[in-house]
Amino acid sequence: MGIDSDIDNRTKIDSFKRILNASSRVTGFTGAGISTESGIADYRSKGGIWDRFQPVYFDEFLSDPAKRLLYWQRKVELWDGIKNAQPNSGHYFFKRLHDSGKLFGLITQNIDGLHEKSGIPKDKLVNIHGTNLEVICLQCGRLTDAHEVFDSLDLSVGVPLCAICGGLLKPNTISFGQELNPADIERATGFLNCELMIAAGSTLVVHPAASFPMIAKHNGAKLAIITLSETPLDSYADFVFNMKLGEFVKLIGT
Ligand SMILES: [Zn+2]
Repeated sequence: MGIDSDIDNRTKIDSFKRILNASSRVTGFTGAGISTESGIADYRSKGGIWDRFQPVYFDEFLSDPAKRLLYWQRKVELWDGIKNAQPNSGHYFFKRLHDSGKLFGLITQNIDGLHEKSGIPKDKLVNIHGTNLEVICLQCGRLTDAHEVFDSLDLSVGVPLCAICGGLLKPNTISFGQELNPADIERATGFLNCELMIAAGSTLVVHPAASFPMIAKHNGAKLAIITLSETPLDSYADFVFNMKLGEFVKLIGT
């Protein structure tokens, strides 16, 4: 980074901070980029799990016992990383916004549970693609802590079933070919009535979630995009910072 762009960034950072200080309803929108700093691979990227393997689609999970087993085997492969991952400075940036009473809501595309682990309460958080920290029964809807299921899991005797109704259990994440939860979309949409939206670590290409920042703009919010790569919404944003959220947090010094 040259001296000119340093000065440029400094000016942008200062005006961002003025907007942030003046906003009492800030909504966050986060994607995989904010978790890579916690060692969680961007699973859709090259070399990620869905690049190496064919995904198991939701209807295959329901209808094909072999695919169901394969799905669980992959989740077991991912679980150790998810179980041990810790939030980073980007997650704590949003937690501090919550602590200062500014955070209106936080919508994430991530399924790693790191926002929960940072201490964001459930009523402020929408996991639009679900979370790996929970397991759901597809029949009765009962939610179980994922630790409980994975700790007693033995796939050699078959995939786990609901202790209450015998239905199929599945980590509570949205699979390929599976509809997003309408209640989650509704809660997320409510959070778009904000004064400032901070979209971080998302390439803003996976819809419908990627349209959320635009809806917030239409509702009168300022939009800040913080991500390494360009996004289709950059030209609509009030601020674009092409950097990791961790780096941004250091620059704004909160
Ligand atoms: Zn059940």
